[in-house]
Amino acid sequence: MGTEATGLPTFHSWVGGREVEGRAGLRPAVNPATGEAFAQASLLDAAQAAEAVTAAQAAFPAWSRTSFRERARLLDRLRQTVVAEADELARLIEREQGKPPAEALAAEILPSLDALQHLSAHAENLLRDDALEGQQLLLAHKEARLVYAPIGVVLAVKPWNYPWAQSVPVVASALVAGNTVLLKPAPATTLIGLRLGALARKAGFPDGVLSVLATDDAVAGALVEDPRIGKIVFTGSVATGRKVMAAAAKNLTPVVLELGGKDPAIVCRDADLDRAAKGIAWAAFLNAGQTCASVERVYVERPVAAAFLAKVLEETRKVRLTGTPGGGDMGPLTLERQRRTVEEHVADAVAKGARVLTGGATPAGPGFFYPPTVLVGVDHGMTIMREETFGPVLPIMEVGSLDEAIRLANDSPYGLTASGWTGSGETARRLQRELVAGIVTINDHVSSFGEPIAPWGGVKWSGIGRIHGLAGLREMVQTKYVSLDRGRGPELWWYPYDAEFAALMSRAAPALYSTSFRRRLGAQLALARFGRLWRRFGPWRLLANLDKLF
Ligand code: NAD
Repeated sequence: MGTEATGLPTFHSWVGGREVEGRAGLRPAVNPATGEAFAQASLLDAAQAAEAVTAAQAAFPAWSRTSFRERARLLDRLRQTVVAEADELARLIEREQGKPPAEALAAEILPSLDALQHLSAHAENLLRDDALEGQQLLLAHKEARLVYAPIGVVLAVKPWNYPWAQSVPVVASALVAGNTVLLKPAPATTLIGLRLGALARKAGFPDGVLSVLATDDAVAGALVEDPRIGKIVFTGSVATGRKVMAAAAKNLTPVVLELGGKDPAIVCRDADLDRAAKGIAWAAFLNAGQTCASVERVYVERPVAAAFLAKVLEETRKVRLTGTPGGGDMGPLTLERQRRTVEEHVADAVAKGARVLTGGATPAGPGFFYPPTVLVGVDHGMTIMREETFGPVLPIMEVGSLDEAIRLANDSPYGLTASGWTGSGETARRLQRELVAGIVTINDHVSSFGEPIAPWGGVKWSGIGRIHGLAGLREMVQTKYVSLDRGRGPELWWYPYDAEFAALMSRAAPALYSTSFRRRLGAQLALARFGRLWRRFGPWRLLANLDKLF
């Protein structure tokens, strides 16, 4: 860190264990509550970013050979450094991203600590080799296992809405699996990413094992195309996700894509309306609605629509903006352009007949604030019901039946999360089965992000692959099949293809696969007359694998 001519504190990337000043200029860090810069970051140019890949590649052989115990020790030390600096970190998150410090602790820092603790305690067990029992009679003698081997250099490209909670679990699962990692934070939340680099350094990770790169998007694009990258874990918008996948295709680099959402909540006629109203208001306005899995659409069954609406309005009006007297529930939007998107979606809905019941107007004053807003009279012809708004707006639509609610909820190109609110176990099971999404919760929304064993990810435009849990950990390894043969002499099917082999093979299909017991047994007895079979396949092996004959 330094202080440049602007007088603003300046932060630099972490590359190969050192702070490296970028040669591609400076980017201000803007406080979204005031719209003013409070610090800046130097940006790496393409050559410097490529050097970070070289450093990560150089660090990989030694890091991938470290024991799980050693990796867990370092994750524990990182956890300790995060715990020690949690309050300060929450204030930095508020300053650069906008969410209130209490929410930064609840929704960013605690889930990251959970992930660190879970991975340090369980990764070794979760990634232990799996012994396989061969099913093919002729191969059953081989000792086979699945080995979960590290991939190499993992590139994690991250968004600005949860800069800490989106980064730490992915970085930690890549590291604990034996990969080296390059983290590319979003431009709007670069300092939060660089703080992770500083804390990892403090925790004692070896040089080059984790680099954090402040770059512009063009350099990020070049990193995605670097053939030395073994896997890309991208979290961000659908538009950029498409570009990343297309660029990754050049080297067939595998990708995990965690993209946007337009998540529905269905309020059934038998729901606990107090709980539904409180839960849905929270899940819509959490992080000023800038949550990939926020509730962005509500379908409420007609018999309870009026009562639900009254309750959700009451809850919405209680949400106090930070910066107002006694306020502290909801911060500003992180970016001015994000607020413009919200304004446009609301204007489009109103122009097409929607009614604003509360909020809906940009307040005067500094910063990028937008009030919690409830809309009714909406339909699927409006942008607000089709495209990701990513702001504190809750459009509510009345429906005549559960069938209609499910049909409308699934009528979206997205499929990240969905929730149903009901008192009936049967309805709950139906919603879990029929809602098309990566995550379906009943009587709650979005909270599974805080559960380290729960896989996170979507279907359709919401993405490919998973982070978190066993599924997320398996994304960080390559599944390798290994086998060992302690036998002597040639295999049955090796050369020469002599007359005996040809006759043996023509009987093999009925002997091994006929569905008629008599035919199978007859062919097996015929096979038993071939010396070539017995030379490789002694009676003991046959006895040990008798079950595979039928
Ligand atoms: P974005 O797509 O604009 O940017 C994401 C990241 O990609 C940033 O770090 C950006 O600098 C980088 N980037 C931009 N161009 C690139 C390129 N050509 N090659 C490589 N990297 C490039 O997204 P955003 O605005 O930062 O984040 C908001 C979006 O993220 C929303 O759509 C939200 O739903 C989504 N999101 C999804 C999840 C999830 O788990 N599914 C979680 C959080 C956010």
